Amino acid sequence: MSAFSLSAVIDAIRSCLPETTGPVALHEPRFDDRDREYVNECLDTGWVSSAGPFVDRFERMLADITGVRRAVAVVNGTSALHVALQLVGVRPGDEVVVPALTFIATANAVAYCGAIPLFADSDERTLGLDPHKLAVFLRNRAEVRTDGCYNRDTGRPIRAVVPMHTFGHPVDMDALLAVCEEFRLAVVEDAAESLGSLYKGRHTGGIGRVGVLSFNGNKIVTTGGGGAILTQDEELGERAKHLTTTAKRPHPWEYVHDEIGYNYRLPNLNAALGCAQLHRLPILVEQKRRLAERYANAFAEVPGVRFFREPPFARSNYWLNAILLDEEHAQWRDRLLAETLRLGILTRPVWRLLSSLPMYRHCPRMDLSVAESIERRLINLPSSPWLAGDERAS
Ligand SMILES: *Cc1c(COP(=O)(O)O)cnc(C)c1O
Repeated sequence: MSAFSLSAVIDAIRSCLPETTGPVALHEPRFDDRDREYVNECLDTGWVSSAGPFVDRFERMLADITGVRRAVAVVNGTSALHVALQLVGVRPGDEVVVPALTFIATANAVAYCGAIPLFADSDERTLGLDPHKLAVFLRNRAEVRTDGCYNRDTGRPIRAVVPMHTFGHPVDMDALLAVCEEFRLAVVEDAAESLGSLYKGRHTGGIGRVGVLSFNGNKIVTTGGGGAILTQDEELGERAKHLTTTAKRPHPWEYVHDEIGYNYRLPNLNAALGCAQLHRLPILVEQKRRLAERYANAFAEVPGVRFFREPPFARSNYWLNAILLDEEHAQWRDRLLAETLRLGILTRPVWRLLSSLPMYRHCPRMDLSVAESIERRLINLPSSPWLAGDERAS
């Protein structure tokens, strides 16, 4: 094989993108007639805010797609995570296992509960939390008592684990569920990036005790801003609805709130856009998988770099496409980012490890060598579904 060449990498990226004059974004939504029709219906009827028929409809559609009993729509993915952690019993002073390599929201939601993130390493095959490494850590450092799992180093309870399906690629959930059962930890799936992704045929977000989705503007389906809490447990679902709608007791006129709830309900206007967009989800996933295939082929013969493919047990939505430089070429990452940006191709590095940020620097962690390596070498590529071409769009 020939040596690593920056221009070979750039040529491979360009060969997958349409010829355009303007810059190519990392991920950009596009809207169709149905999106406009549903949003207009809210404007025409006046149902734009916290009441209206689209919220129920959106929740039913989400439950159908993800195969859960209950979906509760909320204002964004971060608030969904915040409430999901409370639903599984996370309390102030608890520790919650989160990957060091994730978007900031995963750890922030833990902090909003007064809990402390315990940072876990990544699995090179999935880019998500490594269940085997977590098991080794817990066997060495944790103990299960009658009232739950404790971190022997800090003395604090470890309450839950939040696997995040990075760029739409599912975590090895069977292995993770086994560890969590052994150590009696609740599983909250951060499926913010993985709407449309399957793990062994099951929809991500519907596998753990609770799951969350995000409909931010850069996600595969957007409501402008939005999120959802997913669960198979009817009672938890009911509680999620109650907590996210100010914990108000149903009554024809009285204002009775029976605990400190949140005003996290998704407005009808946003839900309308969500309903319209969900009709298109299968097409969006198809387009994104086609674009990923094109990148995979383009990078097959490029030395020193690998296009990240879905793990064997998964059917991924390929939300954000990614390449990984070989470790010995990691020093080219910033040159590659600068060069592609100069050409109007919006590439991005992966998130800084959350364990290195000022507010989380002092939190407990396990060995993070794989996450550190991925952080040095990964680059995200433009991934808007329509880049794949429109031949199958409706
Ligand atoms: C987008 C995202 C969220 C939630 O983000 P919101 O902008 O609050 O909807 C949470 N976790 C991950 C990993 C995300 O990518």
